[in-house]
Formats: sequence, structure tokens, C-alpha cells
Amino acid sequence: MTAYNKIRVRFAPSPTGYLHIGNARTAFFNWLFARQQSGQFVLRIEDTDTKRSTKVFEQSILEDLKWLGLDWDEGPDKKGPFGPYRQSERFGIYKDYADRLIAQSRVYPCYCTHERLEEVRQRQIKAGWPPKYDGRCRTLSKDDRPKDIKPVLRFKVSENAVVFEDKVHKKLLFDGAVFGDFIIVGSDGIATYNFAVVIDDALMEITHVIRGEDHLSNTPRQILLFEALGFPVPEYAHMSLIFGPDKTPLSKRHGVASINDLKESGFLPEAVVNHLCHLGFSPGKELLSLDEAIKSFSLQRLSRSPAIFDIERLKTFNRAYIEKTDTERLLNLVEPYFAEGVSREWLRIAVGAVKGDAVSLKEIPDILLPFLSQPVLEKEAEQILDEPPAKEILLILAEEIEKEAGLTADTYKKIITAIKQKTGASGKRLLMPIRAALTGKVKGLELEKVFVLLGKREAAARVKKHLQGI
Ligand code: GLU
Repeated sequence: MTAYNKIRVRFAPSPTGYLHIGNARTAFFNWLFARQQSGQFVLRIEDTDTKRSTKVFEQSILEDLKWLGLDWDEGPDKKGPFGPYRQSERFGIYKDYADRLIAQSRVYPCYCTHERLEEVRQRQIKAGWPPKYDGRCRTLSKDDRPKDIKPVLRFKVSENAVVFEDKVHKKLLFDGAVFGDFIIVGSDGIATYNFAVVIDDALMEITHVIRGEDHLSNTPRQILLFEALGFPVPEYAHMSLIFGPDKTPLSKRHGVASINDLKESGFLPEAVVNHLCHLGFSPGKELLSLDEAIKSFSLQRLSRSPAIFDIERLKTFNRAYIEKTDTERLLNLVEPYFAEGVSREWLRIAVGAVKGDAVSLKEIPDILLPFLSQPVLEKEAEQILDEPPAKEILLILAEEIEKEAGLTADTYKKIITAIKQKTGASGKRLLMPIRAALTGKVKGLELEKVFVLLGKREAAARVKKHLQGI
């Protein structure tokens, strides 16, 4: 049971970079949970790091979320009752709550310099203790406060343990003695992440915080702040980290960086979302629709072991989704990759013919290139065309093509049967010289599709060219 009567979750990106796989998974799982529970999904921009946050990154994150098919009920571009939804527009709110904690003596100003803090840290590490603030300014009297230093505000942590029940990790216990008094407002007067996030989650009535395991160490501090401010503590679910197939943290080395990169590389959003669904969760099906994902999602079934993002698996999904995609949509997606002179009618047929063969949208022009420009003969293809049955096969092929009004799947079958009967050749011996003459390659698209896409005139011309050369 939660303290509020409606399930509310949030995705809270910092606009300091593009949306990457980890954050996209966080957004997606929050969205799934909200949609499943008839709850609300809030988008909050955490731009308190004013030096590194930019509007360009904020915009690109919003665009990437939309591209993935995720929508939000409240956010920086969508008014709601708990706004504003950009932390940089909420500084006044944080100040009010900091003042409350000052009035309750739950926080104190700390004047320690970086040098001193570093010295303490090194001393503690040397002594084999986990480093933490030593509490020096906790007892500093008003008279002893330096006038020329702008202090930070530190929250007083008691030595009691913080215990909470995480949906993924179950019961967790953090020893308060280990993490020490932490900063809630910096010397520039700006609320720290831990402070701002608690006030926002509370005021925005967030019931479930679903985020990456990398935030687990922040949670006990946040719980202490919720309690100190008299707010209900939300439920937590910390998702496992995402690794590459080699079990190291996901990075550019694994062929993936941001969602934008995937978009640019020709992946369909439904394929990306499908892979996200398999990261730290087993939906029980390889390919699933958004509706199926919403139905199958469960916080309790999130895995504790690292999730594996595998670009090869994503390619398999992408191939399947490209094949399923309506040809007209595909045509619109790939048309910009082609030169201006290519007819839309031809492209429609071509895209329809090759859509089961491409692992990415970008591969479609590669597959179709041999049909749009004269093929360059590969070495192996040249050898095949030099071997004895090639000439006979091509001669009959030229005759048979001439007899037809146009090349279709049916005329292809008819032509092949005729050549087979007249030459006695079959299988590879029959088909390879034809493929080599028509495409210059020994592998590629099904020969039937090659016929249809070249059409009578071009196919006849290519065969003739080889006959003249033989
Ligand atoms: N702004 C934080 C991040 O991008 C969000 C953390 C949270 O979900 O509490 O990692």
C-alpha cells in the first residue's frame, strides 16, 4: 500500500548527455508500470548541475523518448498539478525546505575546505575505514563560524541503521555510521541531487521509485530526508545494471552508446523497445507488442543479476520488426537514403521485396544498390561465369527472357524450368551463373526477387553484356 491513492512514477533524467540504453530502460519500465497500474508517468528534468545541463540535451531526451513511443502525463512540456517539472525552476521550493531543516536543527553549516576533507579521507582510507565526513563542523559554535567562507549545509545522520524493503533486492540494511553527515545544499546555495530528489518525489506524490542499482547507495540518505521532512517514503525497485555480452559495463565498445545512435544506425523503435523489455526482465516471449509488455510487466519479477545488452540480439529483433512493418511506412523511412532519381513506385516494390532480408533500415539501400547501378563483378562470380555451363545457361536465359512480357515471380519459375530442361543443369550449377551475371555476386537476395527488381529490360541487358564478354 502506498500513502497516496494513485500510482505515480517518474523518470528523472539529468540533461547532461544523450539518452542512453540504461536510462531508456529506466524510462520504459516506469512507463510500463504506470500504464499497467492505470497510474501516472511524470517526466522531471534534473538540471541542478547548471554547468553540465543543456537545453539541447533536454530536447534530445524528450525526442528520443517520443521516438521510443513513450508518452508522459506531466512534464516540462506538459503542465500538471505538481509543476514546474524542471528542477532549475524549483530552487525556491528547495530553499523553503532547507530553512525548515535549519529551524529544526537537523542540518548545520559546514566550512571545511576541500583540502581538509581530502586529508580526512586519506587518513581514514589509510586506517582501513570507509571514508566519511568526520563531523567537525557539527559542534562549531556560531562565534567560531568563519565569515569569509560560504558554507555547505550538512544533514545530521544518526548512527541508526536504515532498513528498507526493495522490490528487487528485498530487505536491505545500511549502517548509518558508515555514510556520515552529507551535504544537502552546496556552497553556491544549490540543492544537491539527494535533497532535490526527495522534495520533488514527495511533492509530486511519487509512490514508486524505479531506477538503476547505481542509485542504491543514495537511497538510505534519501529515506532519512523523507523521514526528517515528515514525508511518506516511496516504494523502491532498483534494477540491475546493464552489461555487454562480455560481462563488462555497457559502453561504446559494445557497439551502442545512445538511443540516438541506434536511431541513426537504422534500428526501428519497436525493436529497441523490445530489447529494453528483456533487460533485467523476462517477458516470457521473444517479440512482444507494447500491450503485451504492459500486461507482462512485474516489479517483483525484475532480475537481480546484471542485464545483458547484445547488439546482435537487437539486430535479430530489428530484422523481425522490419519484416513485419507495413511497406508504406518502411518506404517513407528509407526513401531519404536513396538518390533523387529513384522512382517511388520501383522503391515501393523493392522495399516490399527485401524487407525480410535487412537487419537495419540502412542495409536496405545496400541490398538494393546492385539494382540501381551496374554491378561490379566479384572474383568468385567471374570464375563461375568462366566455367562451361555458364555460356549455355546464359544463352537460353536471354532467349527465355525475350519471350516474356515482363519478369514476375511466375515468369521466373517458368524461365528456370525451361533452362533446366534444355541444359540438364540444376541446383547451384544452374542458379549461380544466373546470379553472377545479374548481380555480379555469388550471394544475395533470392533470385526470384532479383528478376522482379531488375525487370525485363535490365535483366536482358546484363545477360547480353556477359555473353558478349564470354
Ligand atoms: N537524475 C538522476 C539520474 O539521471 C535520477 C536519479 C533518480 O532516479 O533518482 O541518474
